[in-house]
Amino acid sequence: MPVDHLPPMRGDGDPIGPADERRPRVVIVGAGFGGLACAHALRSAPVEIVVVDQHNYHVFTPFLYQLATALLEPSETAYPVRALLRRVPNAQFRLAEVTDVDLETRVVHTDRGPLDYHYLVLAAGAVNNYFGNRDIAERSLGLNDLPEALELRNTVLARFERAAWATDAQERKRLLSFAVVGGGPTGTEFAAALAELVHGAQRRDYPHLDVSEVEVTLVEASDGPLPPYSPRLQRAAQRALERKGVRILSDATASKIEREGLGLKDGRTIPAATVVWAAGVRAAPLGDELGLEQGSHHRLKVSPSLQVPGHPEVFAIGDLAEVPDGDGSLPMLAQVALQSGKQAGRSIAALLRGDQPGALRYHDLGSMATQGRNQAVAQIGPVKLSGFVGWLAWLVVHIVRSEGLRTRASVLANWISGYLFRDRPIRLIAVPRTPDPTPDHDSDRPAAAPGGEGSPD
Ligand SMILES: Cc1cc2nc3c(=O)[nH]c(=O)nc-3n(C[C@H](O)[C@H](O)[C@H](O)COP(=O)(O)OP(=O)(O)OC[C@H]3O[C@@H](n4cnc5c(N)ncnc54)[C@H](O)[C@@H]3O)c2cc1C
Repeated sequence: MPVDHLPPMRGDGDPIGPADERRPRVVIVGAGFGGLACAHALRSAPVEIVVVDQHNYHVFTPFLYQLATALLEPSETAYPVRALLRRVPNAQFRLAEVTDVDLETRVVHTDRGPLDYHYLVLAAGAVNNYFGNRDIAERSLGLNDLPEALELRNTVLARFERAAWATDAQERKRLLSFAVVGGGPTGTEFAAALAELVHGAQRRDYPHLDVSEVEVTLVEASDGPLPPYSPRLQRAAQRALERKGVRILSDATASKIEREGLGLKDGRTIPAATVVWAAGVRAAPLGDELGLEQGSHHRLKVSPSLQVPGHPEVFAIGDLAEVPDGDGSLPMLAQVALQSGKQAGRSIAALLRGDQPGALRYHDLGSMATQGRNQAVAQIGPVKLSGFVGWLAWLVVHIVRSEGLRTRASVLANWISGYLFRDRPIRLIAVPRTPDPTPDHDSDRPAAAPGGEGSPD
């Protein structure tokens, strides 16, 4: 879809001011995999880029479960956006939450002020999907971003401290029971890493606690963990999880959380003081505000060239977009976000030259998930790997994909010491101060991450 014309910029109240008409402005909402790939693809285009994100960091989500289980530091899991944009000389970063977009007047509204655009790239990612279950939304802990992973780490460690004080055996057992809902890659990776934390560092730290009392239960609605993988890889993953002491409950659907634990649809209750929700994601709520057509997982429907119907100057990419693929749509994965971000950048450059934007040609690079030390499953085209070889492949791919030499070196150092000494060194219950109950958006104080223990006690 070509763009007819570039409207003049109004610049009313726009803190960056009206753009130079010879250098159209591209506003990118979201500094995730998709948004940053788009900015990089536009680095030599004659445009002014403004990247807006509610956080000043970019999260490498595949490492979040390692942050939540005390193996990695926040700085090894997330990187400052401004540093990642240094190699994009025509880009600026603005820290703000985008609250709405006026698609007619082409203004992005944020909690800091408005921003005019000529081209808009919506790359706001996804949030946890609770499928309308408010009880679970309020009482479970997620693993979708940095604050959630930190809150989860604090909670897991705090449960052990509380258990050390518990005189009642039943209460101690409850505190030491964890239910992980969702047997996809996120749930299985976290459950395996939690079991390793328990049987390694926690066993040594708590000589007076009987770690055999600890229960990690993985609850999956289908007939086993990692449903998208081949049956052989699924079985390999299941065996590896069970060897680590993870109890797998298949064909089980979570319905509520109460003090005793996780209630299932069939009436059973899984005793657990901590419930971790890894059962799915949906597109970021910003997409609900735009009056645009939404598809599965609340994603914005886009054309094969990633443009939003009726607005050829607006692109949606990554987890926020439902990109058509045959009869279905592309999955919500980092690879899709990276490739769609790159394609949106190329398409904007094409439009500026007066050319047609191209369709996204997605190359599936495969998928992999680890179940802890010496075990991962990987499906790369016809190649299927499991066990130690799969694990090595997982390590290599993820270290190469993480950001920068410094991060790679320190992640590697933590992995090696974790492997050799079965250690998880970041066992800190570090809770930020309570956020200001009356946030003042003019203040420079960053919003604090939610702290404390999220599940009912
Ligand atoms: C725990 C976990 C592990 C994962 N592991 C893998 C894996 O191993 N392999 C894989 O392929 N995929 C993995 N994924 C999925 C992958 O992370 C996503 O598909 C990918 O991040 C999508 O990229 P994106 O650019 O669309 O969104 P994101 O990377 O989520 O970035 C969205 C950005 O938008 C910002 N934002 C959102 N709303 C607003 C707003 N209103 N205003 C301003 N900014 C906003 C957010 O702060 C965020 O920085 C994992 C996901 C999770 C949660």
